[in-house]
Amino acid sequence: VLAGQSALVTGSTSGIGLGIARIYAEAGAQVMLNGFGKPDEIATARREIGALMGVAEAPYSAADMSKPDQVRGMVAEAEKAFGKLDILVNNAGIQFVSPVQDFPAEKWDAIIAINLSSNFHAIAAALPGMLARGHGRIINVASAHGLVASPYKTAYVAAKHGVVGLTKSVALEIAQSPVTCNAICPGFVRTPLAEAQVKPLAEKFGVSEEVALKDRLLEKQPSKRWIEVEEVARMALYLVGPGSGGVNGSALSIDGGWLAA
Ligand code: NAD
Repeated sequence: VLAGQSALVTGSTSGIGLGIARIYAEAGAQVMLNGFGKPDEIATARREIGALMGVAEAPYSAADMSKPDQVRGMVAEAEKAFGKLDILVNNAGIQFVSPVQDFPAEKWDAIIAINLSSNFHAIAAALPGMLARGHGRIINVASAHGLVASPYKTAYVAAKHGVVGLTKSVALEIAQSPVTCNAICPGFVRTPLAEAQVKPLAEKFGVSEEVALKDRLLEKQPSKRWIEVEEVARMALYLVGPGSGGVNGSALSIDGGWLAA
């Protein structure tokens, strides 16, 4: 369904971003990867996604999403590599947990820059080309924490609420064009970012990792199971596929019932 289309997925060397890159490449799109990681892991991701695209390795940008110039440069690089950019997925993100009074200011700044401001810069850079060509899909990977809060995650919750607000505002600006802008709001997804939160919780509460996962991390996720990366990727595929043009400015939940409670 995506033959002839090109996509840029930020933070796609791992987790949700890699899953979205994979499903887009499987659907026939040309995909540019981005993100950090060990050189061999990045090379493996490029080869894996490249194989689905029928090339030796997928194009890759090492742009740092905390640097506005690099974010905008990455979009220009993708447009140059593909001749156009049909799909932009703003997915790169980091987490840090601390009481607000101890929250390191530099962590706050980094989370706002990577999780929120990079979305603004990438959208601003990609939108003119999409509007000129009369086709485009923008997806921002927000979070259940873009819609409701939890304690000790002030920067993350503020950034993700910001992403949902940014999504709505951009959607209104482009509402009469064929371009759409939507947010995906996952609950806890089985990725390195989320799995890293289990061990500290087990240690903090003196329980096994299994108990920490169900009773603490997934406390608010009624399904009491991880959302899988592929489930989020399928939502991201729907939003760029046929019949999705009427969905604009939405914050789509995929959270095992979290927001229903
Ligand atoms: P992950 O840690 O597996 O992947 C994050 C990706 O972002 C990696 O590719 C990493 O290299 C990249 N990245 C981090 N900082 C970067 C920077 N400065 N510049 C460029 N790339 C950078 O995490 P994930 O769980 O797959 O998270 C992906 C997105 O989904 C994030 O925005 C996260 O907030 C969101 N999310 C995750 C969950 C979850 O439970 N895993 C839930 C809701 C939302």
